[in-house]
Amino acid sequence: SPLDRGAPAFIAGHRGLVGGAVLRHFQDAGFSQLVTRTSSELDLRDGAAVEEFFAAERPATVVMAAAKVGGILANSTYPADFISDNLRMQVNVLDAAARHGATHLLFLGSSCIYPKLAPQPIREDSLLTGPLEETNDAYAIAKISGVLQVQALRRQHGLHYISAMPTNLYGPGDNFHPQNSHVLPGLIRRFHEAKLADAPSVVVWGTGTPLREFLHVEDLARACLFLLENYDEPAPINVGVGEDLSIRELAELVADIVGYQGRLKFDTSKPDGTPRKLLDVSKLHGLGWQAEIGLRDGLTQTYAWYQEQLATGA
Ligand code: GDP
Repeated sequence: SPLDRGAPAFIAGHRGLVGGAVLRHFQDAGFSQLVTRTSSELDLRDGAAVEEFFAAERPATVVMAAAKVGGILANSTYPADFISDNLRMQVNVLDAAARHGATHLLFLGSSCIYPKLAPQPIREDSLLTGPLEETNDAYAIAKISGVLQVQALRRQHGLHYISAMPTNLYGPGDNFHPQNSHVLPGLIRRFHEAKLADAPSVVVWGTGTPLREFLHVEDLARACLFLLENYDEPAPINVGVGEDLSIRELAELVADIVGYQGRLKFDTSKPDGTPRKLLDVSKLHGLGWQAEIGLRDGLTQTYAWYQEQLATGA
């Protein structure tokens, strides 16, 4: 059955970076019955509460964008929370969706599900072909389980559920925590504070040589709707931009956008993580979808959003 924009659609995780962008995009796209719950209204780790919620709301469409996420340091500090919370949330949501008649579901994973030394750019079929990057293996195993659960629900119940694997994301609504954030919000905050304090240098974690790819979350939100309407296969599908840059280049770009003119200092006591993580997006491009927001424009807009948050004290 085609996706019905007039039927209830549950965006799980709408307070987060991804869920927030998906919610805004689905509103703009004319979804008239969007259903959301904050984590204090509905703890997705609580199976009985999730069951009751799905029985009452019966969403036809579900976007599973709720997850416990964090940067390289958070992942290596709290691995038990990352594996347990994510497994429980996704098992509860996927099971309840299937039990209560959701016809469309998109499960969002992450590019860290692929082996640490997967050939680059990383194709979808490299899943489960080698050992994972150790700094986020607990999170990755939870996400891999979600991909397998989607495939199992398709096989056992004939459901048209799908999984998408976005590359590193950024944009408005990101977490700018100094220790636990991902690299981009971490650097935006640090360069901004260094500019205000006239600091002579800014610390960048690791060696600066790892290569990363960055996708604006509004592009991902567009891809989510596109995939729900145009993709129906058991294999996960990568969502990225198709090019990467080094952490040093990234730091220089952020410094330029923020207007910071001091030096970069690399703290090599911090982990580099995987040496390179570039997704092969030929499958997605083959379906006719491409990212539109360039990194410089996306970062300029995200920095403006961050400054606005600081100004309004949000
Ligand atoms: P990853 O892509 O899963 O490794 O996640 P991150 O976004 O946390 O880190 C990406 C890369 O940026 C790693 O090589 C980090 O060492 C590096 N990096 C440099 N500065 C920072 C920072 O301030 N915060 C974070 N999280 N990573 C940083």
